[in-house]
Amino acid sequence: MLTKIHQRIGHWKSLGLAWLLFLAIFIIYWLRFIASHQNHLDEAELQAKLRASQAAHALSTQVHSQLLSIHFVVGHLVEHWINHDEKTFQKLIDLAQDGIFKGTLDVIAVTDAEGHLLFDNQTQQDQPLPQLSVAKRDYFQALAQEQKPSFFISAPVQNILTKRWTVQFSHSMFKDGRFSGVIIASVSAEHLSDAFKLVFPSHDDTVFLVLNDGHYLARTHALSAALKQKVLIERKFLQHKDKSSGTYTAVSPIDNAERIYAWHRIPDFNVTLGLGLSKENVLTPVKRANQESLAQNLLGAILLFLAALWITRLVCIQTRQNQSLLQTKVRVDTLLKRAPSGVLLIDENNIIVRANTQLCSLLNLDTDPQSLIGIHHEEFISMLTQEHITWFPLASNALIHSHFNEVSDSTGLSLKIDWVPIQYHQSSLGGAWFVQDISENKQKEQELLTLATTDALTGLHNRRSFLDILQHELKHTQLSLPGALLSLDIDHFKHVNDTYGHPVGDLVIQNVAQVIRDTLRQGDISARVGGEEFAILIPKATLQQALQLAERIRERISATPTITDTNTIYVTISIGAALLYGHDEKSVQEHADQALYQAKNSGRNRVCYMELADSESTE
Ligand code: GH3
Ligand code: MG
Ligand code: MG
Repeated sequence: MLTKIHQRIGHWKSLGLAWLLFLAIFIIYWLRFIASHQNHLDEAELQAKLRASQAAHALSTQVHSQLLSIHFVVGHLVEHWINHDEKTFQKLIDLAQDGIFKGTLDVIAVTDAEGHLLFDNQTQQDQPLPQLSVAKRDYFQALAQEQKPSFFISAPVQNILTKRWTVQFSHSMFKDGRFSGVIIASVSAEHLSDAFKLVFPSHDDTVFLVLNDGHYLARTHALSAALKQKVLIERKFLQHKDKSSGTYTAVSPIDNAERIYAWHRIPDFNVTLGLGLSKENVLTPVKRANQESLAQNLLGAILLFLAALWITRLVCIQTRQNQSLLQTKVRVDTLLKRAPSGVLLIDENNIIVRANTQLCSLLNLDTDPQSLIGIHHEEFISMLTQEHITWFPLASNALIHSHFNEVSDSTGLSLKIDWVPIQYHQSSLGGAWFVQDISENKQKEQELLTLATTDALTGLHNRRSFLDILQHELKHTQLSLPGALLSLDIDHFKHVNDTYGHPVGDLVIQNVAQVIRDTLRQGDISARVGGEEFAILIPKATLQQALQLAERIRERISATPTITDTNTIYVTISIGAALLYGHDEKSVQEHADQALYQAKNSGRNRVCYMELADSESTE
């Protein structure tokens, strides 16, 4: 019981450990799996940053060359204005309008040192110039303070005349070393943005150009909203003035979209180009792939769990069955050990699967029953003595039904050998031999048989046994050797009893029986069929042989006295003979009795023969 409990605990412990291991592996897998999703997102963001950075760099190179061109044009306009080369000045404006400022130029204006308008290309030559001053504009104030000719890009302003948002590219003029005014090229902020829109048309992504103080110059989308505000001060390119490029991820306050930004400063100018890729666009495919793999892995995990539960169930059932099998084995072992019979179990391939000690001792095998397990039936047979070999025939078709044999050997050993085939769902599982020692039973049986068939006083057959033998013999008689039945009766036996007493009479009967026994041939049967009456069956003999034998018996009895301590007693015997052939049991007895009667009546101590039809006597 204790071992059983220990086994149970051991089993649950192993199962628990297996589950713990399974869960640990499962949790580790899922942690790594979730981490890999985050890695995919981080990797995608990193790649997007790299892409944005490369694109920002390419665009900034373009913008740089464009600004250089504007600077070049405005610088030359200054030069021609100062030199009063009106013709070239106008030509340059026309060239610029068809070239660098094509479609973008709002106005080109010139002011004096006080900021009063001296020229603008929008006012016809015959029209008066508007009375305007740009003295308060930041670019004018910035350029007026510089001691040398400078180029300035200012934050977009709404044109007083056109109401359009424009970026002013202004350049100061110096005459004789003194500040003499500015030339301003107003360029539509919208047109600047349009160039970027060609590259990044999607509303999700954005490209912008800002002054290094945070003012927007251009933006692919939501330009008018952008122009009214500055870039948030926390943006990296405003924080780290010394850096020329960088990336960051942020939510745009303009359209509230989260983007991955890359920025690049435009060399020689206080302008920075920024490019933002929609974070959602970048991450959505990765997120979708992650969700798909999550769904698949969840399905896999559920299936795995179900499989693990199923396996656990099978293991539990198997363990229970194993325990039950183990218990059955112990029971069967005990049964075999204690069984009164020898047992030999073989499988369907005639391999021994069980044997017990009783079997070995009954068959006089000097071996341990355990050593028989696994050997073939033929090998087992070869271990038996020559006369035992046939006792265990090989299981074959002839042995599909149970049967038993009673066998004996020369040592007096008698065994009952039962064969019981074992079937399961119509297929053979081998069978069992049960070997039972019946020597004692056989002996008792023999004794009982002897008792039942023998006359106690003389040791000859008794009447019943004799009649059985007679009946059997009558079926096998033949004309050439008809055989005979002798009926014998001691003469005047009453007188013996009366004279010497009954016990002496018994001695006389025994003496007569002994003479009969000694005189008979082998195969002749003698019996005591009454008090002092005997019968003799002489099979396969001629009438002559039978009568000679009867005569010899008669003579020997008359010549062989019974000797007691005090007396020597002679008796004679009368014999009636009848042939067996042609008779049935009843008639042959009648004939023999009639012949005996005749022997008595004709003087006793003689043999008479009674023929079938009439009687005849011989002496
Ligand atoms: P008979 O010549 O006509 O045969 O005369 P008998 O005296 O032998 O007559 P019968 O055969 O009729 O007698 C049988 C006697 O045998 C009667 C009985 O007392 C005696 N007897 C029968 N059985 C036994 C026995 O077992 N022991 C002894 N001692 N006597 C027996
Ligand atoms: Mg008698
Ligand atoms: Mg008699």
